[in-house]
Amino acid sequence: MDWVELADFLTLDLYLCREGAHQSPIDIKNVQDRNIPGLKLEGIVSDYSATPIRIINNGHTIHLNYNSGSKINWKNKTFELIQFHFHSPSEHTINKKHYDMEMHLVHKTQDHQFLVIGVLIKKGKYNSHIQKFWDRIPNMKNKEVSYQDDRFNIKNLLPTVKEYFYYSGSLTTPPCLENVSWFILKTPIEISSDQINYFQNFIDHNARPTQKLNDRVVTNVK
Ligand SMILES: [Zn+2]
Repeated sequence: MDWVELADFLTLDLYLCREGAHQSPIDIKNVQDRNIPGLKLEGIVSDYSATPIRIINNGHTIHLNYNSGSKINWKNKTFELIQFHFHSPSEHTINKKHYDMEMHLVHKTQDHQFLVIGVLIKKGKYNSHIQKFWDRIPNMKNKEVSYQDDRFNIKNLLPTVKEYFYYSGSLTTPPCLENVSWFILKTPIEISSDQINYFQNFIDHNARPTQKLNDRVVTNVK
């Protein structure tokens, strides 16, 4: 992009983060019961394929890249799982309550529409799936470290019950683009307090404050 386009982009960037009316995260309350046709997470998740561990500490989060091939079809669009990452504490709150952490599975179409599955994480049992990632967090920032022989499937980290809250929002980091369909799973997963502390040694606090709901509706999907 040239300088004029770049200036426009940066202005838009600041504008949406400061002034956007459909920003994320939000506090989830006053939900409405409705069915969202065509998205049954059980089926989707069973289509995720295994991928090698490719992990980056970018200073803002711990981020794992996903190999191509794990896709969701929704509203006649194909969203591909490209990466997942973690926040501490959770970005979304339920009736103003934060969870200890939140994981975001980021899916994207070729024309840059996003679909993010949010998984709330609470203090509880030791989680051996998370530990595989925690053992490999690089100290060096912004360098992807790849373990080609160490494969895993993200579906093993998801809760068995896949009911969710749905709403339309934004990326929670700049450029805060408002083209994100959010699916927040109602059932949290558990990791131990030692595992939460270990993550916080690398990333201290990376949750954006909750944003106003404005004219949006949060749908309770059962
Ligand atoms: Zn995130």
